[in-house]
Amino acid sequence: MSYQYDLVAIGGGSGGVAASRRAARHGAKCAVVEFDRYGGTCVNRGCVPKKIMWYGAHIAHAIRDAEGYGFDVEQKGFNWTQLVEDRENYIRRLNGIYEKNLTGENVDMLNGHGSLLDAHTVQVGDKQVTAERILLAPGGTPDVPNIPGAELGISSDGFFELKTQPKKVAVIGAGYIAVELAGMLHALGSDVNLIIRKQHFLREFDDILSSTLTQIMHDDGLQIVNNTEIDSLQKVGDQIAIVPKQGGEQLGPYDQVIWAIGRRPLSKELNPQAAGIEVDQRGYIPTDKWQATNVDNIFAIGDVTGRAQLTPVAIAAGRRLSDRLFGGMSDRHLDYSNIASIVFSHPPIGAVGLTENQAREKFGDDIKCYNATFTPMYHAFTRHPQKTAMKLVVQGADEKVVGIHMIGEGVDEMLQGFAVALKMGATKKDFDDTVAIHPTSSEELVTLV
Ligand SMILES: Cc1cc2nc3c(=O)[nH]c(=O)nc-3n(C[C@H](O)[C@H](O)[C@H](O)COP(=O)(O)OP(=O)(O)OC[C@H]3O[C@@H](n4cnc5c(N)ncnc54)[C@H](O)[C@@H]3O)c2cc1C
Repeated sequence: MSYQYDLVAIGGGSGGVAASRRAARHGAKCAVVEFDRYGGTCVNRGCVPKKIMWYGAHIAHAIRDAEGYGFDVEQKGFNWTQLVEDRENYIRRLNGIYEKNLTGENVDMLNGHGSLLDAHTVQVGDKQVTAERILLAPGGTPDVPNIPGAELGISSDGFFELKTQPKKVAVIGAGYIAVELAGMLHALGSDVNLIIRKQHFLREFDDILSSTLTQIMHDDGLQIVNNTEIDSLQKVGDQIAIVPKQGGEQLGPYDQVIWAIGRRPLSKELNPQAAGIEVDQRGYIPTDKWQATNVDNIFAIGDVTGRAQLTPVAIAAGRRLSDRLFGGMSDRHLDYSNIASIVFSHPPIGAVGLTENQAREKFGDDIKCYNATFTPMYHAFTRHPQKTAMKLVVQGADEKVVGIHMIGEGVDEMLQGFAVALKMGATKKDFDDTVAIHPTSSEELVTLV
């Protein structure tokens, strides 16, 4: 049986683009199906616009801190509209680069909504294409709860569409996206309430990170409203009030309410049953270590698989899959252990490996933690000092490093190198034997006692 393509990827985001370009480089005839702009969530509604706003927020803090270094400066204003316009122009350039790269590698771009007709046929708009192998990489979309008035709020997608800065905002959610959006808006001058269902946010991270950031946010005047479940949103004039489930006073009113309560995979829209693809209860497509689904010639990567939902993960899984399928590298696959991640809070958070609780669960008492909490030199001179906290989790007699957790100025750029060491199996002694770089915050990690 001959097919039009060796590989058709549904989804022109981080994973789909990386996999099809790599496959094409190995000589495969490929196409990517995309109904929106190329680059996916990361480029258009995720990492990239988020990091640009984070840089803006970082500069707002630097202006605030400048006085401590003898500068007579004052923030006279902040032009949100201009920054957003420049950001979107930058993203449009990236969209163009994505398309140019696909064209350059001879990957066909099939624009439209893709769905499965059978295990070898994809419907794209009113066309049908056949492929020997199909890759499902549709990513996900923000979840909004099914409660009265929910539509009055926006999601992270809506946040990136805001042309003017909301003055008073509620961000609802306890994951990294909620924490990041709340931090950025607050640093840029909005009055922010971060509303969380339980006692703490970032519960999947080590406790030291959540507790330190909570204290820093508190000192900085960002109000965290915890233990709050939401019954409904209500319109109050031009604004929105939040009605808590437990009764009591309404919260707000706010100019914007942002839902950041999680994301759902875009699997249903692929018509997975037409090809017999298994989908779990939450909509994720289960895959094995080879990114294979339950159907022989159909693979899935990225957020739709529900595993480590990060851009570099989708890219790495996609490239490895194509190396294996089309590049003759029969054992190539992604090792999902010890993937480092950053939360772009203020200050940022970095983590790789096991949290203290996870390590205890896995190894019992055979673990030890080395901690450091200090005021970094930068903040010795600022009027709003923020602490840095670090934790090294080690295991066994040779004190193998199994977890690194940090919050503080610069940890976002610090973690990558340390993640290499952890992945290579470094021990505490290896850290101690590494001569420190002085004066930095990172030197604390190699001088912990
Ligand atoms: C606010 C936010 C901030 C983030 N920040 C970071 C960060 O700092 N670092 C990080 O690593 N990750 C971050 N992420 C996560 C990151 O964006 C995702 O993990 C990554 O984009 C997943 O890649 P993917 O290829 O699986 O899906 P996506 O990049 O989402 O790509 C999927 C593509 O498929 C298209 N599509 C979907 N269904 C169909 C269909 N049926 N037919 C045709 N096209 C379809 C979509 O339009 C989309 O373009 C962030 C996400 C969000 C929302």
